[in-house]
Amino acid sequence: MQHFILLVSYLLGSISFIVGLKMLSHPDTARKGNLYAAVGMTIAILATIFLYTDESGKHLGNYLWIFGGLIIGTVIGTMMAKKVQMTAMPQMVSLFNGMGGACAAIISIVEFKHLLHKQEQSTDIISSITEALSSIMKTTVAPANNQLILLTILLGLVIGTVSFFGSMVAFGKLNGNINDKTLPGQQVINIGLLLIIVALLVAMITGFTGLDNTLLFWILFGISALYGVLFVMPIGGADMPVVISLLNSFTGVAAACGGFLYSNPVMLTGGILVGSAGTILTILMCKAMNRSLTNVIVGAFGGGSAAAGGAQVGGTYKEISMSDTAVLMAYSKRVVIVPGYGLAVAQAQHTCHELEKVLEEKGVELTYAIHPVAGRMPGHMNVLLAEADVPYEKLKEMEEINPEFAQTDVVLILGANDVVNPAAKSDPSSPIYGMPILEVENATHVIVNKRSMKPGYAGIENALFYQPKTSMLFGDAKKVLQDLVSELKSL
Ligand code: NDP
Repeated sequence: MQHFILLVSYLLGSISFIVGLKMLSHPDTARKGNLYAAVGMTIAILATIFLYTDESGKHLGNYLWIFGGLIIGTVIGTMMAKKVQMTAMPQMVSLFNGMGGACAAIISIVEFKHLLHKQEQSTDIISSITEALSSIMKTTVAPANNQLILLTILLGLVIGTVSFFGSMVAFGKLNGNINDKTLPGQQVINIGLLLIIVALLVAMITGFTGLDNTLLFWILFGISALYGVLFVMPIGGADMPVVISLLNSFTGVAAACGGFLYSNPVMLTGGILVGSAGTILTILMCKAMNRSLTNVIVGAFGGGSAAAGGAQVGGTYKEISMSDTAVLMAYSKRVVIVPGYGLAVAQAQHTCHELEKVLEEKGVELTYAIHPVAGRMPGHMNVLLAEADVPYEKLKEMEEINPEFAQTDVVLILGANDVVNPAAKSDPSSPIYGMPILEVENATHVIVNKRSMKPGYAGIENALFYQPKTSMLFGDAKKVLQDLVSELKSL
């Protein structure tokens, strides 16, 4: 009966993950979806703690350790999630993802020891395989033999370790603690490390070298850690979100290895969902930037290193006053706002919503143009504006809004830069050439709000700022929007 309730809990957990994930695809339901999945996860964890028994009927025990860890983890996680700024979200995702990878690697370390222990206990190899199988596997999804168990353990170790160390480097880069660094012959070194990892896996599974497997296990761990660091190190700062998503899918696969190892259906489902969702997101982001994954991995785009590319940009730019901006916008029929990373930095989303309401009261039709990689994470702008209660129908995706710029009187760009850079279409030498952009230059007037003429995240100049129809409105986005709202109200 206990086992039946355990399986039902796992089923509930798995269903909640699938429903939760589906609900995450729309901002209206995302919060609830997250909650459903969290409840499912809690049910699965509690069921394992209290209902799981091994073949001798023993419960997990160690409750002090388990609940001690759970409480400490919950307190730290909650505090971090409450404190984190919207602009620091990618770092946090990376850190949490790294923790998942570390857990998967630790499971492999523990289970490797168990497997060795079982083998030492038995002199007969066949009975050792059977014992290892029955102790590690509980029920249905049992690997066929000892080698398969070992392979699952080793894959969990390699993928989890790469994910942990890679995520830590990604965290450091996004947080500004680590710069992009490419060693001479970096790609050759990385391929070499990968080959060594494969060779070690084969040697351990087949027993080919006759060397002590424990020694090989720790060498494998060390090389995987090194590979994790060297794999992420040279990747450009602006590409970090793609890498995080890729590492996220690694963590999912590593967790699925754990699920396979323990015959735990909820762990298996969770791992597979994370693995596949991470892979799909990686592909979608590459598509949004019109680049291949290989180009992302070796392209060193952003974080300063991309600044070298691109044609010379310069000339004179013109500024616009607050009152002229207010008049121009108030007497427009159609206005489009382009939000970018600077809006998130300034935490100006609420003031932006206020501007939207003031303009609508004056009869102006207002929409937001959302570039798929605006900000520092896909969906960054959607979440930011949803937080300020901007109606979701007002947000238009790039493909939908691009043809509408030609009928737009004023485009107001708030702290966005790379996503409106025309070099992506016109300059083959630019590092962002080929990346789809918001075609704001087709509007009648373009007003750009930022604090200076400095480049954006990719480190490249923007010719849009020097075009005759563009006017610069310098200042912090929040202050500028507040002044603009008061100016409009006084008209
Ligand atoms: P950018 O980083 O290109 O530009 C942001 C601009 O905001 C800066 O030029 C900055 O100029 C301005 N800014 C900063 N703080 C403020 C403030 N307080 N008030 C007003 N303006 C401010 O942002 P975008 O959103 O245009 O582009 C996102 C970048 O991130 C792209 O390079 C994109 O490729 C990359 N990215 C990559 C992803 C990927 O998957 N690889 C995913 C998401 C993003 P100033 O300092 O002069 O104020």
